[in-house]
Amino acid sequence: MQRKMVYLALCDTCGTPKRITKYALRNGWRNSIVTEEYCNNCRQHTKIPEHLRKIAKELYLFQHRSV
Ligand SMILES: [Zn+2]
Repeated sequence: MQRKMVYLALCDTCGTPKRITKYALRNGWRNSIVTEEYCNNCRQHTKIPEHLRKIAKELYLFQHRSV
């Protein structure tokens, strides 16, 4: 059973929580090229926390193992 999970990252500048979807994790962060997330509120870029990047990588690996 898989639960829908949403990860949150807080903006470094204004503190606005940003919802990180699995889609974003899969398509951006896992390849380590994307290290920052754009904030729609204050228009600053926030560094993606290391632990979330790790989760993204694990998600990716898990999905490709189980196919
Ligand atoms: Zn912000």
